[in-house]
Amino acid sequence: MRAHAADRTAVTGVPFVDLTAMSQELAVELDAAWLRVREQSSFIGGSLVENFENDWAAYCGRKHAVGVANGTDALELTLRGLGIGAGDEVVVPANTFIATAEAVVSAGATPRLADVDAGTLLLTTETIEAAITPRTAAIIVVELFGNVPRMNEIVEFARARGLALLEDAAQAQGATWGGIRIGSFGVAASFSFYPGKNLGAFGDAGAVVTDDDDLAARIRSLADHGRAADSKHLHPIAGRNSRLDALQAAVLSVKLPRLDGWNDRRRTAMETYRRHLDARSIRMVKLEPWSRSAHHLNVVRINDRDAIREALKDVGIETGIHYPVACHEQEPYRRYAREPLPNVELAAQEILSLPMFPHISDEQVRYVCERLNELVEVHDAASA
Ligand SMILES: *Cc1c(COP(=O)(O)O)cnc(C)c1O
Repeated sequence: MRAHAADRTAVTGVPFVDLTAMSQELAVELDAAWLRVREQSSFIGGSLVENFENDWAAYCGRKHAVGVANGTDALELTLRGLGIGAGDEVVVPANTFIATAEAVVSAGATPRLADVDAGTLLLTTETIEAAITPRTAAIIVVELFGNVPRMNEIVEFARARGLALLEDAAQAQGATWGGIRIGSFGVAASFSFYPGKNLGAFGDAGAVVTDDDDLAARIRSLADHGRAADSKHLHPIAGRNSRLDALQAAVLSVKLPRLDGWNDRRRTAMETYRRHLDARSIRMVKLEPWSRSAHHLNVVRINDRDAIREALKDVGIETGIHYPVACHEQEPYRRYAREPLPNVELAAQEILSLPMFPHISDEQVRYVCERLNELVEVHDAASA
Protein backbone atom coordinates (compact mmCIF):
# COMPACT_ATOMS: atom_id res chain seq x y z
CA MET A 1 0.00 0.00 0.00
CA ARG A 2 2.80 2.33 0.96
CA ALA A 3 4.52 1.63 -2.37
CA HIS A 4 1.34 2.51 -4.22
CA ALA A 5 1.09 5.85 -2.50
CA ALA A 6 4.69 6.59 -3.43
CA ASP A 7 4.07 5.67 -7.07
CA ARG A 8 1.07 7.94 -7.27
CA THR A 9 3.11 10.92 -6.30
CA ALA A 10 5.98 9.93 -8.60
CA VAL A 11 3.97 9.55 -11.81
CA THR A 12 1.79 12.44 -12.91
CA GLY A 13 1.19 11.49 -16.51
CA VAL A 14 2.12 8.94 -19.14
CA PRO A 15 2.76 9.68 -22.83
CA PHE A 16 1.39 7.32 -25.45
CA VAL A 17 4.85 6.74 -26.90
CA ASP A 18 8.21 8.13 -25.82
CA LEU A 19 11.01 7.50 -28.30
CA THR A 20 13.53 9.77 -26.58
CA ALA A 21 14.89 7.08 -24.26
CA MET A 22 15.60 4.77 -27.23
CA SER A 23 17.64 7.44 -28.94
CA GLN A 24 19.46 8.32 -25.72
CA GLU A 25 20.38 4.69 -25.14
CA LEU A 26 22.08 4.69 -28.55
CA ALA A 27 23.37 8.26 -28.70
CA VAL A 28 27.06 7.36 -29.11
CA GLU A 29 26.44 4.69 -31.75
CA LEU A 30 24.04 6.93 -33.66
CA ASP A 31 26.58 9.76 -33.75
CA ALA A 32 29.16 7.32 -35.11
CA ALA A 33 26.69 6.13 -37.75
CA TRP A 34 26.04 9.67 -38.94
CA LEU A 35 29.73 10.31 -39.13
CA ARG A 36 30.11 7.20 -41.33
CA VAL A 37 27.41 8.47 -43.70
CA ARG A 38 29.06 11.88 -43.89
CA GLU A 39 32.51 10.44 -44.50
CA GLN A 40 31.33 7.94 -47.11
CA SER A 41 29.30 10.60 -48.95
CA SER A 42 27.23 7.78 -50.38
CA PHE A 43 23.74 8.90 -49.53
CA ILE A 44 21.52 6.77 -51.75
CA GLY A 45 22.39 3.07 -51.95
CA GLY A 46 25.94 1.98 -51.12
CA SER A 47 27.35 -0.25 -48.42
CA LEU A 48 25.29 1.07 -45.50
CA VAL A 49 22.06 0.24 -47.30
CA GLU A 50 23.42 -3.15 -48.39
CA ASN A 51 24.54 -3.94 -44.84
CA PHE A 52 21.14 -3.22 -43.41
CA GLU A 53 19.38 -5.15 -46.16
CA ASN A 54 21.57 -8.19 -45.47
CA ASP A 55 21.04 -7.96 -41.72
CA TRP A 56 17.29 -7.51 -42.09
CA ALA A 57 16.98 -10.49 -44.46
CA ALA A 58 18.96 -12.62 -42.00
CA TYR A 59 16.86 -11.44 -39.07
CA CYS A 60 13.66 -12.40 -40.92
CA GLY A 61 15.14 -15.70 -42.11
CA ARG A 62 14.75 -14.78 -45.77
CA LYS A 63 17.07 -14.68 -48.74
CA HIS A 64 16.50 -11.07 -49.81
CA ALA A 65 15.56 -7.76 -48.25
CA VAL A 66 14.97 -4.82 -50.56
CA GLY A 67 15.00 -1.43 -48.87
CA VAL A 68 12.36 1.02 -50.08
CA ALA A 69 11.14 4.48 -49.08
CA ASN A 70 8.28 3.43 -46.78
CA GLY A 71 5.98 0.57 -45.81
CA THR A 72 3.19 1.56 -48.17
CA ASP A 73 5.50 1.42 -51.18
CA ALA A 74 6.81 -1.92 -49.90
CA LEU A 75 3.29 -3.33 -50.25
CA GLU A 76 2.47 -1.68 -53.56
CA LEU A 77 5.76 -2.62 -55.21
CA THR A 78 5.37 -6.23 -54.02
CA LEU A 79 1.96 -6.42 -55.67
CA ARG A 80 3.36 -4.85 -58.85
CA GLY A 81 6.34 -7.17 -58.74
CA LEU A 82 3.96 -10.12 -58.59
CA GLY A 83 2.04 -8.78 -61.56
CA ILE A 84 -1.09 -8.18 -59.48
CA GLY A 85 -3.10 -5.24 -60.82
CA ALA A 86 -6.18 -4.35 -62.87
CA GLY A 87 -8.86 -7.02 -62.65
CA ASP A 88 -7.36 -8.68 -59.59
CA GLU A 89 -8.88 -8.63 -56.14
CA VAL A 90 -6.79 -8.68 -52.97
CA VAL A 91 -8.28 -9.63 -49.60
CA VAL A 92 -7.35 -7.10 -46.89
CA PRO A 93 -8.70 -6.88 -43.33
CA ALA A 94 -10.98 -3.85 -42.93
CA ASN A 95 -9.42 -2.92 -39.55
CA THR A 96 -5.94 -2.06 -40.69
CA PHE A 97 -4.06 1.18 -41.20
CA ILE A 98 -5.38 2.67 -44.43
CA ALA A 99 -2.05 2.06 -46.18
CA THR A 100 -2.80 -1.64 -46.66
CA ALA A 101 -5.91 -0.98 -48.77
CA GLU A 102 -4.36 2.12 -50.32
CA ALA A 103 -1.38 0.14 -51.66
CA VAL A 104 -3.74 -2.30 -53.39
CA VAL A 105 -5.56 0.59 -55.08
CA SER A 106 -2.24 2.21 -56.06
CA ALA A 107 -1.16 -1.07 -57.68
CA GLY A 108 -4.31 -0.92 -59.83
CA ALA A 109 -6.00 -3.87 -58.12
CA THR A 110 -9.21 -3.99 -56.07
CA PRO A 111 -9.06 -4.44 -52.30
CA ARG A 112 -11.74 -6.70 -50.86
CA LEU A 113 -12.18 -5.66 -47.24
CA ALA A 114 -12.74 -8.60 -44.91
CA ASP A 115 -14.03 -9.04 -41.37
CA VAL A 116 -11.83 -10.41 -38.60
CA ASP A 117 -12.09 -12.70 -35.59
CA ALA A 118 -14.07 -11.15 -32.72
CA GLY A 119 -11.41 -11.97 -30.11
CA THR A 120 -8.07 -11.48 -31.86
CA LEU A 121 -9.26 -8.85 -34.39
CA LEU A 122 -7.13 -10.67 -36.99
CA LEU A 123 -8.02 -12.42 -40.26
CA THR A 124 -8.98 -16.09 -40.07
CA THR A 125 -9.53 -18.60 -42.84
CA GLU A 126 -13.29 -18.15 -42.29
CA THR A 127 -13.25 -14.37 -42.71
CA ILE A 128 -10.92 -14.67 -45.71
CA GLU A 129 -13.17 -17.32 -47.24
CA ALA A 130 -16.16 -14.96 -47.04
CA ALA A 131 -14.26 -12.36 -49.09
CA ILE A 132 -12.93 -14.69 -51.80
CA THR A 133 -14.27 -14.40 -55.35
CA PRO A 134 -13.11 -15.89 -58.68
CA ARG A 135 -11.05 -12.71 -59.16
CA THR A 136 -9.09 -13.04 -55.93
CA ALA A 137 -5.35 -13.11 -56.63
CA ALA A 138 -3.83 -12.49 -53.23
CA ILE A 139 -4.38 -12.18 -49.48
CA ILE A 140 -2.60 -9.58 -47.37
CA VAL A 141 -2.38 -10.74 -43.78
CA VAL A 142 -1.79 -7.89 -41.32
CA GLU A 143 -0.08 -8.62 -38.01
CA LEU A 144 -2.14 -5.89 -36.39
CA PHE A 145 -0.91 -4.48 -33.06
CA GLY A 146 2.09 -6.84 -33.47
CA ASN A 147 -0.21 -9.85 -32.99
CA VAL A 148 0.03 -12.88 -35.26
CA PRO A 149 -2.95 -14.77 -36.71
CA ARG A 150 -3.09 -18.55 -37.19
CA MET A 151 -0.38 -18.66 -39.80
CA ASN A 152 -0.41 -22.42 -40.35
CA GLU A 153 -4.08 -22.37 -41.31
CA ILE A 154 -3.79 -19.28 -43.48
CA VAL A 155 -0.67 -20.53 -45.29
CA GLU A 156 -2.42 -23.83 -46.00
CA PHE A 157 -5.60 -22.06 -47.14
CA ALA A 158 -3.69 -19.80 -49.56
CA ARG A 159 -1.73 -22.75 -50.94
CA ALA A 160 -4.88 -24.84 -51.47
CA ARG A 161 -6.56 -21.98 -53.35
CA GLY A 162 -3.49 -21.01 -55.35
CA LEU A 163 -3.50 -17.47 -53.89
CA ALA A 164 -0.42 -15.36 -53.25
CA LEU A 165 0.02 -14.71 -49.53
CA LEU A 166 1.61 -11.42 -48.47
CA GLU A 167 2.31 -10.18 -44.98
CA ASP A 168 1.89 -6.54 -44.02
CA ALA A 169 4.24 -6.85 -41.06
CA ALA A 170 4.61 -3.12 -40.44
CA GLN A 171 3.54 -3.44 -36.80
CA ALA A 172 5.16 -6.75 -36.00
CA GLN A 173 8.94 -6.66 -36.35
CA GLY A 174 10.31 -9.56 -34.35
CA ALA A 175 6.99 -11.35 -33.68
CA THR A 176 6.91 -15.11 -34.19
CA TRP A 177 4.42 -17.84 -34.92
CA GLY A 178 5.33 -21.37 -33.80
CA GLY A 179 8.81 -20.06 -33.06
CA ILE A 180 9.33 -18.81 -36.63
CA ARG A 181 9.82 -15.10 -37.28
CA ILE A 182 6.99 -13.42 -39.11
CA GLY A 183 7.96 -12.13 -42.53
CA SER A 184 8.68 -15.65 -43.72
CA PHE A 185 5.17 -17.05 -44.15
CA GLY A 186 4.07 -15.71 -47.52
CA VAL A 187 5.73 -15.15 -50.88
CA ALA A 188 6.89 -11.81 -49.48
CA ALA A 189 6.44 -9.56 -46.46
CA SER A 190 6.52 -5.80 -46.26
CA PHE A 191 7.79 -3.73 -43.37
CA SER A 192 7.54 -0.10 -42.42
CA PHE A 193 10.29 1.54 -40.38
CA TYR A 194 8.22 4.63 -39.62
CA PRO A 195 9.72 6.11 -36.42
CA GLY A 196 6.95 4.82 -34.15
CA LYS A 197 7.17 1.19 -35.29
CA ASN A 198 9.03 -1.35 -33.14
CA LEU A 199 12.08 -0.87 -35.36
CA GLY A 200 11.90 2.74 -36.45
CA ALA A 201 14.10 4.96 -38.59
CA PHE A 202 14.60 8.70 -38.15
CA GLY A 203 12.16 9.36 -40.97
CA ASP A 204 10.32 7.23 -43.50
CA ALA A 205 11.72 3.86 -44.54
CA GLY A 206 10.51 0.40 -45.49
CA ALA A 207 11.56 -2.99 -46.86
CA VAL A 208 10.30 -6.11 -48.58
CA VAL A 209 11.67 -9.54 -47.70
CA THR A 210 11.33 -12.60 -49.92
CA ASP A 211 13.12 -15.78 -50.98
CA ASP A 212 12.15 -15.24 -54.63
CA ASP A 213 15.18 -13.99 -56.63
CA ASP A 214 13.12 -12.66 -59.53
CA LEU A 215 10.61 -10.89 -57.32
CA ALA A 216 13.38 -9.24 -55.32
CA ALA A 217 15.07 -8.07 -58.52
CA ARG A 218 11.81 -6.67 -59.92
CA ILE A 219 11.00 -4.78 -56.72
CA ARG A 220 14.54 -3.39 -56.63
CA SER A 221 14.18 -2.21 -60.19
CA LEU A 222 10.66 -0.77 -59.70
CA ALA A 223 11.92 1.20 -56.70
CA ASP A 224 14.81 2.60 -58.75
CA HIS A 225 13.09 4.05 -61.83
CA GLY A 226 12.70 0.65 -63.49
CA ARG A 227 16.44 0.53 -64.02
CA ALA A 228 18.12 -2.58 -65.43
CA ALA A 229 20.37 -4.36 -62.92
CA ASP A 230 23.37 -4.11 -65.24
CA SER A 231 22.86 -0.72 -66.86
CA LYS A 232 22.52 2.73 -65.37
CA HIS A 233 20.79 4.09 -68.48
CA LEU A 234 18.36 1.36 -69.45
CA HIS A 235 14.86 1.30 -67.98
CA PRO A 236 13.11 -1.83 -69.21
CA ILE A 237 10.11 -1.23 -66.94
CA ALA A 238 8.32 1.93 -65.83
CA GLY A 239 9.21 2.29 -62.16
CA ARG A 240 9.44 5.11 -59.70
CA ASN A 241 11.73 6.49 -57.04
CA SER A 242 11.24 4.63 -53.76
CA ARG A 243 14.73 4.05 -52.38
CA LEU A 244 15.96 3.55 -48.84
CA ASP A 245 18.62 6.13 -48.09
CA ALA A 246 21.94 5.53 -46.34
CA LEU A 247 21.13 7.72 -43.34
CA GLN A 248 18.00 5.72 -42.50
CA ALA A 249 19.80 2.43 -43.15
CA ALA A 250 22.60 3.47 -40.78
CA VAL A 251 20.10 4.29 -38.03
CA LEU A 252 18.28 1.00 -38.57
CA SER A 253 21.54 -0.97 -38.38
CA VAL A 254 22.32 0.63 -35.03
CA LYS A 255 18.86 -0.16 -33.68
CA LEU A 256 18.39 -3.70 -35.05
CA PRO A 257 20.55 -5.48 -32.42
CA ARG A 258 18.30 -3.91 -29.74
CA LEU A 259 14.99 -4.94 -31.29
CA ASP A 260 14.54 -8.25 -29.46
CA GLY A 261 15.45 -6.70 -26.12
CA TRP A 262 13.05 -3.82 -26.72
CA ASN A 263 10.29 -6.28 -27.65
CA ASP A 264 10.99 -8.15 -24.39
CA ARG A 265 10.48 -4.91 -22.49
CA ARG A 266 7.17 -4.41 -24.28
CA ARG A 267 6.21 -7.96 -23.24
CA THR A 268 7.06 -7.21 -19.61
CA ALA A 269 4.91 -4.07 -19.71
CA MET A 270 2.12 -6.13 -21.24
CA GLU A 271 2.32 -8.65 -18.39
CA THR A 272 2.04 -5.84 -15.85
CA TYR A 273 -1.01 -4.50 -17.67
CA ARG A 274 -2.54 -7.98 -17.68
CA ARG A 275 -1.96 -8.42 -13.95
CA HIS A 276 -3.31 -5.05 -12.91
CA LEU A 277 -6.18 -4.18 -15.25
CA ASP A 278 -9.65 -5.08 -14.00
CA ALA A 279 -10.49 -7.93 -16.33
CA ARG A 280 -14.25 -7.73 -15.64
CA SER A 281 -14.74 -4.55 -17.62
CA ILE A 282 -11.45 -4.03 -19.45
CA ARG A 283 -10.99 -6.73 -22.07
CA MET A 284 -7.60 -7.20 -23.65
CA VAL A 285 -7.34 -8.24 -27.29
CA LYS A 286 -6.82 -12.02 -27.47
CA LEU A 287 -3.57 -13.57 -28.65
CA GLU A 288 -3.26 -16.81 -30.60
CA PRO A 289 -1.64 -19.58 -28.50
CA TRP A 290 1.21 -20.30 -30.92
CA SER A 291 2.08 -16.69 -31.46
CA ARG A 292 4.57 -14.41 -29.78
CA SER A 293 3.41 -10.85 -30.28
CA ALA A 294 5.74 -7.91 -30.91
CA HIS A 295 3.33 -5.88 -28.72
CA HIS A 296 3.47 -2.84 -30.95
CA LEU A 297 0.24 -1.62 -29.33
CA ASN A 298 -1.65 -2.59 -26.20
CA VAL A 299 -5.28 -2.49 -27.29
CA VAL A 300 -8.06 -3.02 -24.76
CA ARG A 301 -11.82 -2.91 -25.22
CA ILE A 302 -14.14 -0.96 -22.95
CA ASN A 303 -17.67 0.43 -22.94
CA ASP A 304 -18.13 4.15 -23.49
CA ARG A 305 -14.60 4.38 -24.81
CA ASP A 306 -14.66 8.05 -25.85
CA ALA A 307 -15.73 9.35 -22.41
CA ILE A 308 -13.14 7.22 -20.65
CA ARG A 309 -10.46 8.32 -23.07
CA GLU A 310 -11.24 11.98 -22.26
CA ALA A 311 -11.11 11.27 -18.53
CA LEU A 312 -7.72 9.55 -18.94
CA LYS A 313 -6.44 12.62 -20.71
CA ASP A 314 -7.48 14.72 -17.72
CA VAL A 315 -5.20 12.65 -15.48
CA GLY A 316 -2.30 12.99 -17.90
CA ILE A 317 -2.61 9.66 -19.72
CA GLU A 318 -2.32 9.79 -23.51
CA THR A 319 -4.03 7.05 -25.48
CA GLY A 320 -4.69 6.23 -29.14
CA ILE A 321 -7.34 4.47 -31.22
CA HIS A 322 -6.21 2.07 -33.94
CA TYR A 323 -8.44 2.69 -35.77
CA PRO A 324 -11.64 4.61 -34.98
CA VAL A 325 -12.82 4.67 -38.61
CA ALA A 326 -12.44 1.33 -40.40
CA CYS A 327 -11.18 1.27 -43.99
CA HIS A 328 -14.61 0.51 -45.47
CA GLU A 329 -15.99 3.65 -43.79
CA GLN A 330 -13.41 5.91 -45.43
CA GLU A 331 -14.87 7.59 -48.49
CA PRO A 332 -12.61 6.21 -51.25
CA TYR A 333 -12.86 2.66 -49.90
CA ARG A 334 -16.59 2.29 -49.19
CA ARG A 335 -17.19 0.31 -52.33
CA TYR A 336 -14.63 -2.34 -51.44
CA ALA A 337 -16.66 -4.01 -48.67
CA ARG A 338 -19.32 -6.43 -49.92
CA GLU A 339 -20.03 -8.47 -46.82
CA PRO A 340 -21.20 -7.17 -43.44
CA LEU A 341 -18.22 -6.61 -41.16
CA PRO A 342 -19.76 -6.82 -37.67
CA ASN A 343 -16.59 -7.63 -35.73
CA VAL A 344 -14.63 -4.78 -37.29
CA GLU A 345 -17.48 -2.35 -36.68
CA LEU A 346 -18.04 -3.31 -33.05
CA ALA A 347 -14.30 -3.18 -32.32
CA ALA A 348 -14.01 0.33 -33.78
CA GLN A 349 -16.42 1.56 -31.04
CA GLU A 350 -14.65 -0.16 -28.15
CA ILE A 351 -10.92 -0.24 -28.80
CA LEU A 352 -8.47 1.93 -26.91
CA SER A 353 -4.68 1.78 -27.25
CA LEU A 354 -2.90 2.31 -23.92
CA PRO A 355 0.64 3.69 -23.57
CA MET A 356 3.18 1.17 -24.85
CA PHE A 357 6.86 1.65 -25.63
CA PRO A 358 10.00 -0.24 -24.59
CA HIS A 359 11.09 2.23 -21.94
CA ILE A 360 7.72 2.61 -20.21
CA SER A 361 8.36 2.08 -16.49
CA ASP A 362 6.58 -0.32 -14.18
CA GLU A 363 5.29 2.70 -12.24
CA GLN A 364 3.90 4.27 -15.40
CA VAL A 365 2.07 1.07 -16.38
CA ARG A 366 0.63 0.71 -12.89
CA TYR A 367 -0.45 4.35 -12.87
CA VAL A 368 -2.37 3.76 -16.13
CA CYS A 369 -3.97 0.59 -14.69
CA GLU A 370 -5.03 2.27 -11.45
CA ARG A 371 -6.53 5.31 -13.14
CA LEU A 372 -8.28 3.24 -15.80
CA ASN A 373 -9.66 0.76 -13.25
CA GLU A 374 -11.05 3.64 -11.16
CA LEU A 375 -12.63 5.36 -14.15
CA VAL A 376 -14.24 2.21 -15.47
CA GLU A 377 -15.55 1.34 -12.00
CA VAL A 378 -17.10 4.77 -11.50
CA HIS A 379 -18.55 4.64 -15.00
CA ASP A 380 -20.00 1.15 -14.56
CA ALA A 381 -21.57 2.13 -11.21
CA ALA A 382 -23.14 5.22 -12.79
CA SER A 383 -24.62 3.28 -15.72
CA ALA A 384 -25.77 0.29 -13.59
C1 LIG B 1 2.60 1.92 -40.64
C2 LIG B 1 1.82 0.96 -41.42
C3 LIG B 1 1.88 0.92 -42.82
C4 LIG B 1 2.52 1.98 -43.65
O1 LIG B 1 3.81 2.25 -43.46
P1 LIG B 1 4.44 3.65 -43.93
O2 LIG B 1 5.88 3.42 -43.72
O3 LIG B 1 3.86 4.70 -43.05
O4 LIG B 1 4.09 3.84 -45.35
C5 LIG B 1 1.21 -0.10 -43.48
N1 LIG B 1 0.49 -1.00 -42.80
C6 LIG B 1 0.39 -0.99 -41.47
C7 LIG B 1 -0.42 -2.04 -40.79
C8 LIG B 1 1.04 0.00 -40.73
O5 LIG B 1 0.91 0.02 -39.40
